[in-house]
Amino acid sequence: GARAFDAIVIGAGAAGLMCAAVAGQRGARVLLLDHATKLAEKIRISGGGRCNFTNVNAGPANYLSQNPHFCRSALSRYTPADFIALVKSHRIPFHEKHRGQLFCDRGSEDIIAMLDAECRAGGVDRRMGVKVAGIRREAAGDDFVVETDAGEFRAARVVIATGGPPIPKIGATDFGHRIARQFGLKVVESRPALVPLTFDAREWQPFAGLAGIACEVGIGCGEGHFVEDLLFTHRGLSGPAVLQISSYWRPGEPISIDLLPGRDAAGELLALKRESARRLGPSLAEWLPRRLADVWLEHARAPADRKLAECPDALLRDVAGRLSSWSLVPNGSEGWRKAEVGLGGIDTRELSQSTMEARRVPGLHFIGEVVDVTGWLGGYNFQWAWASGHAAGMAIAA
Ligand code: FAD
Repeated sequence: GARAFDAIVIGAGAAGLMCAAVAGQRGARVLLLDHATKLAEKIRISGGGRCNFTNVNAGPANYLSQNPHFCRSALSRYTPADFIALVKSHRIPFHEKHRGQLFCDRGSEDIIAMLDAECRAGGVDRRMGVKVAGIRREAAGDDFVVETDAGEFRAARVVIATGGPPIPKIGATDFGHRIARQFGLKVVESRPALVPLTFDAREWQPFAGLAGIACEVGIGCGEGHFVEDLLFTHRGLSGPAVLQISSYWRPGEPISIDLLPGRDAAGELLALKRESARRLGPSLAEWLPRRLADVWLEHARAPADRKLAECPDALLRDVAGRLSSWSLVPNGSEGWRKAEVGLGGIDTRELSQSTMEARRVPGLHFIGEVVDVTGWLGGYNFQWAWASGHAAGMAIAA
């Protein structure tokens, strides 16, 4: 019989709203379902309530995936400039915080209202509080049947936009992964990312008193290198530097921290030997928060009170070397409770990079965080949600 919808989008978050709006405005009849009663809670809490909605510098190099080139196509066809133009057309005030990160002046609600208005302009039938039990299809080529507590819906296309595992209490589920497996698609196992790292309580004891102290550092692990702020916590380390590197860290590996980024500490300490009254501790305290300098020197068993003039060059070089490559082995992370995103998801080798459609299951699309594409901290994850949502929306309407 006649179908009411061309496509059913499951998940009315960042990616699902964009996809539904794009498809609807190009003539497709779209049903958008979400089990949550409140719209787009993750957008609302994002960026500390101000939604870091994109990054002007976003490009493929800012994403992690087992297949790093996959994101290139969608990102190039819907760019930060495209999203900024949309934001401007809704007269939403925003500002650049730093490093290309764009935030709402007023709050995240502006972005939610904008996407909602775009969906209405596309005639999208959005229904909240609908529990999706499952998706079935009698045979390849048939319509998909989406089974919900509000009845069954049929369409030739279904888009899974149910997001990543973080923050179950606002509606995150593993629904997308379950559907992928049901249809025989590979899923890259997920793990928490953009998450604070923790240390063994005994090993961390000397630094626990530094909780609350922040400073800019260089940080590295594997392929990842960043210069960002580091924040000491009671259980370990956080702040943008550690959130970024957590995406590259694997259990058992060390992370390396440069406490004096961009500074030739050895050269400067050796030069300071000429100033006869100079001592090691106070010299470092000019470059680092005082308590951090004290605690670090004590931990390194370095003579904080000794005059630089009396320190052998080799000692100063050793201290400088250890300050610029402080190696630490985290014992874990704060986990899903604190993670901003999940690494892993639907294996991108299963998907078309231009339509986000499963190659082996025509008509079934995956977009947003549920896909194995994970951005850095700084607006990159939303840009992926917009770009992948746009790609699928265009494909649905074609
Ligand atoms: P979501 O936006 O999470 O949407 C998924 C939707 O699917 C939800 O509405 C959910 O209710 C629904 N859903 C889930 N399961 C089902 C189901 N079984 N049935 C029906 N519906 C379902 N990224 C940035 O770029 N900038 C930021 O400032 C930023 N801040 C963040 C702050 C926090 C605290 C967190 C946790 C994340 C932040 N992120 C940020 C990451 C960003 O929010 C996500 O990457 C992005 O929301 C993913 O978009 P999505 O559409 O894939 O998923």
